Amino acid sequence: MDAAPLKIDLTPPSERPGPRPRRASKRVYVGGTSIGGDAPVRVQSMCTTLTHDLAATTAQIERLQEAGCEIARVAVPDKRAAEALPELVRRSILPVVADIHFDWRLAMAALDAGVHKLRLNPGNIHNKEGVREVVRKARERGTPIRIGVNHGSIGDRAPDETRDEAQRMVDLAMSEIGILESLDFTDVVVSVKAFDVPTMIAAYRRLAKLVPYPLHLGVTEAGTLVSGSIRSTAGMSVLLYEGIGDTIRVSLSEDPVMEVTAGFDILKSLGLRDQGLTLVACPSCGRADIDLIPLAKVAEERLRALPHPMKVAVMGCEVNGPGEAKDADVGIAGGVGKGAIFRKGKVVGVHPESELLDALMAEVDKILVENGLEPYSDKAPKLSHEGQLTPGRSVPAGQRG
Ligand code: SF4
Repeated sequence: MDAAPLKIDLTPPSERPGPRPRRASKRVYVGGTSIGGDAPVRVQSMCTTLTHDLAATTAQIERLQEAGCEIARVAVPDKRAAEALPELVRRSILPVVADIHFDWRLAMAALDAGVHKLRLNPGNIHNKEGVREVVRKARERGTPIRIGVNHGSIGDRAPDETRDEAQRMVDLAMSEIGILESLDFTDVVVSVKAFDVPTMIAAYRRLAKLVPYPLHLGVTEAGTLVSGSIRSTAGMSVLLYEGIGDTIRVSLSEDPVMEVTAGFDILKSLGLRDQGLTLVACPSCGRADIDLIPLAKVAEERLRALPHPMKVAVMGCEVNGPGEAKDADVGIAGGVGKGAIFRKGKVVGVHPESELLDALMAEVDKILVENGLEPYSDKAPKLSHEGQLTPGRSVPAGQRG
């Protein structure tokens, strides 16, 4: 066991089978963050706070950023929200997108505040001179505009309508884009979101062929954590795998930090981003010698802020665990009252169950240091349910009640 440990190289593989080549798209800058072109697919989210509550909104943006979020959107429904924007932009650690409907004066205020992008549908603004003013100012300031068409707000079908719902969204997006292009404005991002996944996929596929602009993917009103993440993944992963999509937002009825986690999990699963922890955990079975589910949860909680890509496994038994997770950089395999730490499937140490998690954290630190990186465990989030992993919880297979 004390032989020199297997060297783990944390450099992501340069060649791997993966999605089709990304669709070529124009590069747009949201503050210092690019979308489209050869930029990685960006993960964004939207604040759930009242925008004028600066303390709450800034704190939420910081939590989003810690989770890896790259762009934060805030609603600007009224003057009070618009008046908070200059200070919010000053304090925000992330580029800020102002989400505006109907009122061109709010858009002007947001541009004056220095927001980094507007989400705005010019067709919804009745004052056409107002639209021209907004576009002129956005161009002067180099602020991009996202046209955001949502299926829920495209209006009812006319009785003689022959187009399908996807086409109705695409046509509306094209007419909105046409308004901006007629004003010589091309710093554009577009979305055509729907709750219905086949409709959303069809709309994005068609739009992708028609415009050179970066596409913001989303499934609207997707739902709560599990069902919403699955629905979003079902829609977005088909498109992302085809090379369509430059930025994503997973809309969940949840803490928006979970939107960011879900977003990166989709991208990591498709090999489109390498970011922080990738947790490999077995589902547990009758061979498990350890209470696996809480162990996987606490490991994920401690490691979720890892600043470097690393694949960490939590497996239920020593017989199959290390082998089944041989792809993981490092992992734990449960045993009765003890467990093994392994690297790339090779056992490098055995520890009492009560010390397993600390041993895993120490091994992660060792790997980081071997790669010339800072150790992590001192900065790792503390467990919110300390004590869940108690010694003696493991029960030999077949003897569990
Ligand atoms: S690693 Fe062991 S406990 Fe986990 S599913 Fe495989 S056989 Fe079962």
